[in-house]
Amino acid sequence: MKPIRRLLAANRSEIAIRVFRSAHELGIRTVAMYSHEDRYALHRFKADEAYLIGEEGKPLQAYLNIPGVIELAKEHAIDAIHPGYGFLSENPEFAQACADAGITFVGPRVDLLENLGDKLEARKLATKVGVPVLGGSAEAIVEVADGLATAEKLGFPIILKAAHGGGGRGMRVVTDPKEFESSFEAARRESLTAFGSPEIFVEKYIQRARHIEVQLLGDRHGNLVHLFERDCSVQRRHQKVVEIAPAPNLPTKVRNAICEAALEIGRAVKYDNAGTVEFLVDADTHELYFIEVNPRIQVEHTVTEEVTGIDVVRSQILIAQGEKLTSEAVGLASQEDIKTTGFAVQCRVTTENPSNRFMPDYGRLTHYRSAGGMGIRLDAGTAFSGAVVYPFYDSLLVKVTAWGRNFEDATRRSERCLQEFRVRGVKTNIPFLIRLVTDPVFLAGECTTRFIDDTPELFD
Ligand code: ADP
Repeated sequence: MKPIRRLLAANRSEIAIRVFRSAHELGIRTVAMYSHEDRYALHRFKADEAYLIGEEGKPLQAYLNIPGVIELAKEHAIDAIHPGYGFLSENPEFAQACADAGITFVGPRVDLLENLGDKLEARKLATKVGVPVLGGSAEAIVEVADGLATAEKLGFPIILKAAHGGGGRGMRVVTDPKEFESSFEAARRESLTAFGSPEIFVEKYIQRARHIEVQLLGDRHGNLVHLFERDCSVQRRHQKVVEIAPAPNLPTKVRNAICEAALEIGRAVKYDNAGTVEFLVDADTHELYFIEVNPRIQVEHTVTEEVTGIDVVRSQILIAQGEKLTSEAVGLASQEDIKTTGFAVQCRVTTENPSNRFMPDYGRLTHYRSAGGMGIRLDAGTAFSGAVVYPFYDSLLVKVTAWGRNFEDATRRSERCLQEFRVRGVKTNIPFLIRLVTDPVFLAGECTTRFIDDTPELFD
């Protein structure tokens, strides 16, 4: 066991701050890195130490440059790096570079990042352990004709996916065979540009799907538990907008089957650290299908923390240090001891304008009044009166997580909290979120992944 005394968050904004909070509580000295463009960003001031990285005019590169991050870490005697989400978090080369430099990477083993980052490999793994996947091509498809033949065999609609894709990008739904060729070419191009690989595959598209995912925590000694599920069906362009734990309106039998399937997959690879196994559940038949594993902390881990009382980031750090789940510090001796209480709903407040196709908005927050009160948790990035929202990074302003004794209470609390916010100077999606969390379909726990697209009333 190598104790962690100095921890660097190789990330920015709310997730860097989130990491510092758990590290601080563990008595670890926190270190931030920030780009020139982020020199007034809050994460810089929330750490015990902060260092500039990269060059002016390259705001993304600063957080993506592996040698740069390693050099900074070595220079400042860093013991461990938490990569957050996005940026280098799922990059096996980065994890390996940390290992080579004698720095603990707070995340899964390199081979897990390598294998799970490929959706086709992950599908094979699920199939091997008897977890159902959707019909689709076993290998990447190169020729349009092969793709079309597979699609016709599956029956339209189908979805084209980038094998190395993520963040809801590199996916195209095709309903009409006549559009297959153009979508195929576009998906290949998009995949190459965005993910550096033209590998795409075809999968059957489920029209009425719920996105249900399971949080796993494994240690380096072969112990593994799940922290139950989250419902992330409320999405826009395949990206999550509102997340709920546990999934409302989900039959116990389905819940148990999903959690068990996630464990099967985790056990098969001796999963270590935090990870999420994602599934689609057919809203009509309740059949479940594995889609992918995300080997990192996720934006929506908050809802799991609120209903289980388990600090996922703290667990990640302790596991990376070599602790067992059963140790007193981690405190996850048995699956039976992990329970959920009530419901938690997280709304992603973004600086996007829903009335204008969710175009990101920028500028100075002339006025920012935050919300609070019982059962509310806020995870904010640079959000205060006078702060400037820049166009370089993602538009997440604050994550609003509301806990309630039941789903209805949690949704009412979400609505109350969203109403309390006052944000001026930059447009936000708050009015949209308020309509969303008060919508009858949402309140009935009946959202499918098409809910936002199929509900024009949400857009004033
Ligand atoms: P990413 O890695 O980009 O997040 P995922 O494979 O996790 O991509 O899928 C993201 C979302 O895309 C899912 O939550 C779902 O809404 C939609 N999706 C993916 N595959 C299918 C499918 N076969 N049928 C229906 N929807 C799908």
